[in-house]
Amino acid sequence: MRLPQNVRERRAQDQYFDGATSGRVTYHVPLQVKPLFRVVAVKMSGAAQSGADEGFVYVRCGGTMSTMKTYLSSGDVFLGHRIVGEHPERPERLQAIEAAIDSSELVGRFRRIPPRRATEEELLRVHTAPYLADLRQRMGDLQPKGQGWLDPDTYYGPGTYSAVMHAAGTACDLALRIASSDGDNGFALVRPPGHHASQERAMGFCLLNNVAIAAAAVRATGRRVAIVDFDVHHGNGTEEIFARDGGVLVISLHQFPFYPGSGAATSIGEGNGRGAILNIPLPESSAGPEYKLAFKKVVLPALRRFAPDMILVSAGFDGHAQDSLAGMGLVEEDYAHMVSSLLAVQARLLLVLEGGYNTKALAASVLAVLRVLIDPSSFRPSGHDAGTVPSDAVRRALTEVQKLHGL
Ligand SMILES: [Zn+2]
Repeated sequence: MRLPQNVRERRAQDQYFDGATSGRVTYHVPLQVKPLFRVVAVKMSGAAQSGADEGFVYVRCGGTMSTMKTYLSSGDVFLGHRIVGEHPERPERLQAIEAAIDSSELVGRFRRIPPRRATEEELLRVHTAPYLADLRQRMGDLQPKGQGWLDPDTYYGPGTYSAVMHAAGTACDLALRIASSDGDNGFALVRPPGHHASQERAMGFCLLNNVAIAAAAVRATGRRVAIVDFDVHHGNGTEEIFARDGGVLVISLHQFPFYPGSGAATSIGEGNGRGAILNIPLPESSAGPEYKLAFKKVVLPALRRFAPDMILVSAGFDGHAQDSLAGMGLVEEDYAHMVSSLLAVQARLLLVLEGGYNTKALAASVLAVLRVLIDPSSFRPSGHDAGTVPSDAVRRALTEVQKLHGL
């Protein structure tokens, strides 16, 4: 039987044919979920299609088809954060990602959500009132002011205030949607990044800690949240925010020693937060085999023990071999592998963009990850690094982390 034109596209776009209209044909949605596959009956009203059986076209989908949604949010508001002159954290990063999505087979397969601003309540769960007031006063709100620097790395310009407010709000929005879902996932393609920002300080290109604000929003609904940070730099801001808390498990894999200097394995949190901070310092040149071993020995066991209702990812792609800001050797597939592993622990997963400064490598890596989010069972390791043995230094580092955390 021939399928009507557009069926695959419509399915991709809407996940199911919910009254969607395509050309002259209206699809309705009688769905029957079977254990191993789904039969979608598409009732056709309007133009007759050859091969349609009494007005129905039956489409058998693979076992991966489900009502799971992949949320995606980005927007021009995030391009407004810019400065005159050269800076690695620039709007072209997001533009490269969007261009890659638009020219890929993934276009139209997401539930797109427009960016929204964070509320005062959401911000105040993480940042101090004086810090927020300072940002407002420096950068302006309705009347944006000029440009300047909050630390030697962190600029602001006329569009920055709106960008940071929307980055934090969008991360919250997607996190809350996913947290209350049956197993949706998503990617907040926002900037500037956030994981170096602490309660009361901007740092390392970051002004508001988007992932921490989103985690706090989800936790406020009574759910357990874990954060996994695979940006090449230690997520020191996120650690500071939750170090005395204990309610949020924060796992960071990072090049060490490296900027910002923190992130030793022995930093495990304090007081109520003791044990809830899990740092995995990795030596320069670590690549897929080292990260895979770290996931196997530490990240996945720690997550399973914590049993989060949702996982948030500080998704930085500056550990890519092509990224000149750091010295790791990851490739696109390694990011896909990490995300695939996380989805196996908890389907409710939201990635929030952090670093990644080689626009080509960034876009390719994000695309690889998005493919996994849309169809988790599609990931097949190519074995590109099979036979490469993780270094002894990494094995020792992981053993120390295991001991520190009783894993
Ligand atoms: Zn980074």
